Amino acid sequence: MKKVFTLSVVVAALGVLVYAQEDKNPVMPVSKEIPKAMSKEEASQVSDTEWKKRLSSAQYTILRKSGTERSNGKVYKEFKEQGGGTYFCVGCDTELFSSKEKFDSGSGWPSFYDPSQSENVKSVMESDGSGRVEVRCATCDGHLGHVFSGEGHNNPTDKRYCINGTVLKFVPAKGEE
Ligand SMILES: [Zn+2]
Repeated sequence: MKKVFTLSVVVAALGVLVYAQEDKNPVMPVSKEIPKAMSKEEASQVSDTEWKKRLSSAQYTILRKSGTERSNGKVYKEFKEQGGGTYFCVGCDTELFSSKEKFDSGSGWPSFYDPSQSENVKSVMESDGSGRVEVRCATCDGHLGHVFSGEGHNNPTDKRYCINGTVLKFVPAKGEE
């Protein structure tokens, strides 16, 4: 009996460990179909408990608690290898970015020089006095990352939308799956 108990504790512990490890190295969700976005109204009615249920813990920490994924992680490697396609908010499926505005900033985080749908991405000055400008999803108000201007990047806006790939959902362009 004791053996069985010990075994089940070990199995449970292993399960937690594997889960935690996976979440430390999240992957970017990929969908073949264009997802249907929530409305602002619907998104505003999702409770914190419900967000926790719907999102992985890494996604929840970034999107709802303004967390940051580690640079040069697995998600970033995936991002670099992706071809043409569109990026959606993992929380509410709103279109945010496209591969057309993607560029290599060398920062270790997914970088875009502009949103694909400007009205879907909002910029908010950080209240901590750092002067940093936070980028949020305009539909679900989820934290996506930051935007930096005038860094001298050779792109049309000289902006760097530094985005957590963990909270993006990638839909490859037709013929690029
Ligand atoms: Zn969203």
